[in-house]
Amino acid sequence: MTRPARMYLIHQYSRDIAVPSGSILMSTGCYLVQTDDGRNILIDSGMPPDADGSDPPTEESAGILAQLRELGVRPEDVAVVICTHFDIDHVGHHEHFINAEHIVQREQYEVAVSGAERFASGRSHWDAPGTQRRLVDGDVELMPGLRLVETSGHAPGHQSVLVTLPGTGPVLIAGDAVSLERQFSVDRQPRSYEDADRLRASTRKLLDLVSREKVALTVFHHDGEQWRKLRRAPEAYE
Ligand SMILES: [Zn+2]
Repeated sequence: MTRPARMYLIHQYSRDIAVPSGSILMSTGCYLVQTDDGRNILIDSGMPPDADGSDPPTEESAGILAQLRELGVRPEDVAVVICTHFDIDHVGHHEHFINAEHIVQREQYEVAVSGAERFASGRSHWDAPGTQRRLVDGDVELMPGLRLVETSGHAPGHQSVLVTLPGTGPVLIAGDAVSLERQFSVDRQPRSYEDADRLRASTRKLLDLVSREKVALTVFHHDGEQWRKLRRAPEAYE
């Protein structure tokens, strides 16, 4: 039976972002899961290469496609793209994965495809002509050891991913449901555009999942301090 064999955390860049209390080191990137029968499953695809010319990064890795190439993975070799949500910094290379089934929560897809302004800037990436898409509703076991966990709040129909690896055990890719480690508590403060009730419910859901499933590692998508400590591609978690 197909199961996850290893996972690569692909770092794109880290950047200091000014906040009232000082600054936060914010990172971005994506994730590649390889199964024991050689299937490539990508979770998100990072920021598009032409994205923004704001403050220079404090640390920059090779591009997403270059890092995949270094792992021996061509875009056409990717069988599945799991979309946590359609914000521009998560869909930046989606159009390259032409053979993949792009899996997204139906709620996120319907909000985005109806023309919501927030997701318009990334539309050429997440809605490229010919994209094969699979819409899902709620929590879904894609295969043994790979579960989609619906975590709305940051965005309607956001999903996180629980990947159980043979050696490491369960790894939670929180995505932007909890994008910084300091937000991983139910009394967190939502941002203005987030749905506060759903965000807190999703945070509680992930906290429960971490204790119930004995999660070995939770990856907070934009946490630059955590990314410093993570094992990055081309090294793998196995
Ligand atoms: Zn994000």
